[in-house]
Amino acid sequence: MPLGAHMSIAGGMDKAILRGQSIGCETIQVFTKSSNRWRAKPLVSEEIARFKQAREESGINPVFGHTSYLINLGSPDEDLWQKSVDSFLVEMERCAALGLPYLVMHPGAHMGAGEDVGLRRIGRALDEILARTEGSGVIILLETTAGQGSNIGYRFEHLARLIEESAYPDRLGVCFDTCHAFAAGYDLRTPEAFHRTFEEFDALIGIDRLKAIHLNDSRGDLGSRIDRHEHIGLGKLGLEPFRLLLNDPRFRNLPMVLETPKGPDMKEDVMNLATLRSLIE
Ligand code: ZN
Ligand code: MN
Ligand code: MN
Repeated sequence: MPLGAHMSIAGGMDKAILRGQSIGCETIQVFTKSSNRWRAKPLVSEEIARFKQAREESGINPVFGHTSYLINLGSPDEDLWQKSVDSFLVEMERCAALGLPYLVMHPGAHMGAGEDVGLRRIGRALDEILARTEGSGVIILLETTAGQGSNIGYRFEHLARLIEESAYPDRLGVCFDTCHAFAAGYDLRTPEAFHRTFEEFDALIGIDRLKAIHLNDSRGDLGSRIDRHEHIGLGKLGLEPFRLLLNDPRFRNLPMVLETPKGPDMKEDVMNLATLRSLIE
């Protein structure tokens, strides 16, 4: 399975690939634009060409996207909801221009309106986004969340419902985050617990919907609903869940990326990637 990490796009989209290449990533995840601003400078053809050339030369595959943190498709506020849909559409267009196959997103937060209302608003947003990008090859990956605050997506049932009720189920997949799932109450620490969690995932969502994995250890305990990532093996998950994931034939072709804390020299990524590779049997 291709292994890598989330890479910064500071200095240009192509820089993310050069960074990933410099520490031996086989796949990377990127924000398609600055993750804490609504607006983005439109991509120019030179930047797209530089990005595609860097990707070819590096052999990194796949390179996939993650939406900005401002977007909330579950917002009960009409203005914020519309702003989120518009911003999401810009990100979908950027993915299409750059040739990114997936855009990972957190379903959204209901902000007190309740999970049912939130899920309906997210569903309506996804339908609008997918309708307006018909013909685009970009697939949206709903990420499993920790359920912190009023965030939806911490139960497999939430993601299953969004896919079932979508007018475009063929353009929806799932990204499994180990830290988030564990914090949400899905145990992964023993072969039995790991098996049970993915049995449940398969029964509710379908293993074939799984397109990417986020490899993060967890600071928070099982069911804590705390979204705090830790270095591989140093958190409450330990090494066993990662050993099981990396050696499971069902996940052999899935891109797996780290989203663990790091500084600009990325030495923590180097350490975590070495740990992960040592677990492959
Ligand atoms: Zn995420
Ligand atoms: Mn994640
Ligand atoms: Mn997280």
